[in-house]
Amino acid sequence: MTTTRADFDQVMVPNYAPAGFIPVRGHGSRVWDQAGREYVDFAGGIAVSAVGHTHPKVVAALKDQADKLWHVANVMTNEPAIRLAQKLVAHTFAERVFFANSGAEANEAALKLARKYASDNFPHNRKDNKCLGCTMAGCHCLTDKFEIIAFDNSFHGRTLFTVSVGGQQKYTQGFGPLPQGIRHLPFNDIAAAEAAISDKTCAVIVEPIQGEGGVTAAKREFLQRLRELCDKHSALLIFDEVQCGVGRTGELFAYTKFGVTPDILSSAKGLGGGFPIGAMLTTDKIAKSFGVGSHGSTYGGNPLACAVAEAVLDIVAAPETLAGVVKSNQLFVDALNVLNAKHQVFRQIRGDGLLIGCELEAAYEGRGKDLVKAAEVEGLLLLIAGPNVMRLAPSLLITPEDIQEGMSRFGAAVAKFVAATPAAAEAAPPAAPPAPVPQAASTAVAKAA
Ligand SMILES: *Cc1c(COP(=O)(O)O)cnc(C)c1O
Repeated sequence: MTTTRADFDQVMVPNYAPAGFIPVRGHGSRVWDQAGREYVDFAGGIAVSAVGHTHPKVVAALKDQADKLWHVANVMTNEPAIRLAQKLVAHTFAERVFFANSGAEANEAALKLARKYASDNFPHNRKDNKCLGCTMAGCHCLTDKFEIIAFDNSFHGRTLFTVSVGGQQKYTQGFGPLPQGIRHLPFNDIAAAEAAISDKTCAVIVEPIQGEGGVTAAKREFLQRLRELCDKHSALLIFDEVQCGVGRTGELFAYTKFGVTPDILSSAKGLGGGFPIGAMLTTDKIAKSFGVGSHGSTYGGNPLACAVAEAVLDIVAAPETLAGVVKSNQLFVDALNVLNAKHQVFRQIRGDGLLIGCELEAAYEGRGKDLVKAAEVEGLLLLIAGPNVMRLAPSLLITPEDIQEGMSRFGAAVAKFVAATPAAAEAAPPAAPPAPVPQAASTAVAKAA
């Protein structure tokens, strides 16, 4: 019996709207569907396939571990988990690691740890020393240090806590009552952060580069000021590097690029290269608040996931991989500028390394999905980040040939897309001089050619 895309609509909960074809095979930065059609993969499974599809070293690690041990649960530890944790500790500020199965779970752990740390260390923060009214024995309500500060347009996952912390209201509509003590501020607004962060703040959570929110980098001074404010008010600074970490920016983790060290860092997506894993990294001192029994996960730290992630991390952390990301960024940005000079579809090309965002001109407002579909027709997988931003998050190992081939397909897709928008085609005739691509005021913005 053949499985078809139409079957999806019969048996699946309708929360996704997948493409019209079903991929069945992948290698490197190419994917093939049921009909044998080939696609260049600029989407990377949403910034997940960090080393491309079926990388031989990663396949070998998975097969090797598959023959040894799949699962023991956390009543026992296992060798791959310890090895992976050792490597993450060696490569980062962190001294302790907690493993989960996804980005949302890594953030859930980070946010719970921040609440617990505040409750452990500032149990009598409330000036009036009055319980907030809970009836639990040994309550910690005497602290009012539970506020979590997050930013507009941020994305931190889909569990009820992480989706409430995320700064996109459309994702929480209909799911109330929501967890309390969460406040949202405008991103990159130093004055707003100064006004809001206080002794009641237990944590500030931020994506150094907002991924889902539109590929928008934080300003270095903004992250630096958040660091200072967190220090001043004994709040924890959490960097959500689920999307921008694991080599995406050309550094193993983005925080080193910004020169700001968080107290907690969450990782996932690229970490497993396609095998589900998440990790929360922190310091020894903070980790103490997650004592025995305080938090857990059946699968988190599973030997299969950790063996795969170890192989991925070894490849990504290699200097030649990270240098390759910077080189590939330049190839992409140059090609995107050439494409844009011809068609004037993007008002800005931004991002860093191999997380690139192209914001559509006003004439194409809200039509990102149409361009994704046009690209599919040409044999190219693309992503959007919100309705107006095209997002590229390919394998960190993508070859110059695949970049060139994919960009040529992108060009063909854009030409048709533009032609199908008569008003825009008139407003920006191909004969017009190429519009310069403005650069965002950030250190982490891709250089325009
Ligand atoms: C994707 C993403 C998440 C959620 O990860 P899941 O694995 O889907 O739970 C969290 N934070 C950021 C920044 C992400 O991009």
